Amino acid sequence: MTLPMTLPLEQELNKEELIEFAKGFNLRSEDIVYITTIIYVLNQNLHNDVCWEISKMKNLSNFTNAQDYIPRYKGRDIRPLLLAINGVFPGNKNKEVKNKDQEILMRAGNCNSKDCINPTHYLYGDRLDVSIARWQRTGIEINKEIYYEIISLRKESPKEYTINNLSHMFNFSKNTIRTICDNGTKASD
Ligand SMILES: [Zn+2]
Repeated sequence: MTLPMTLPLEQELNKEELIEFAKGFNLRSEDIVYITTIIYVLNQNLHNDVCWEISKMKNLSNFTNAQDYIPRYKGRDIRPLLLAINGVFPGNKNKEVKNKDQEILMRAGNCNSKDCINPTHYLYGDRLDVSIARWQRTGIEINKEIYYEIISLRKESPKEYTINNLSHMFNFSKNTIRTICDNGTKASD
């Protein structure tokens, strides 16, 4: 099969790896070329930081959105293929995920659409990434580094770093701080 001459997105696309990966989708090679071309064209015309919403695009064939936040193409969950087009494959690219068995295909914290096909709005993460993305979507400016910093401060000196103090220091609600500290306690048990 022939992929578009110009490689999609900024990253170097490994065609062999993509073609091999795409076989698992039971789609025709024309479909793979079509999807790749769509993503390429969208990448040329839309910013990476906004959602590329199926429902807002005209003339898009066979793409459908569901209420379950899974964009589909001919009924198939298209997210792994979007990531593969962007050069991200399960298991080998996300070094942050320590246990590959717990790898979850998830929406990034900056994605706010049910039917987004922006490949950079998806990632393979772990359960902590999922929690952090949820927090980010509610406007909490947190990431893994901050999360672990809170846990380590709390462990260092629970008397100094009370829920109240941490809440002021990081400007998070006491509830959020409490959840993080509880997670930290559970993780070390
Ligand atoms: Zn999005």
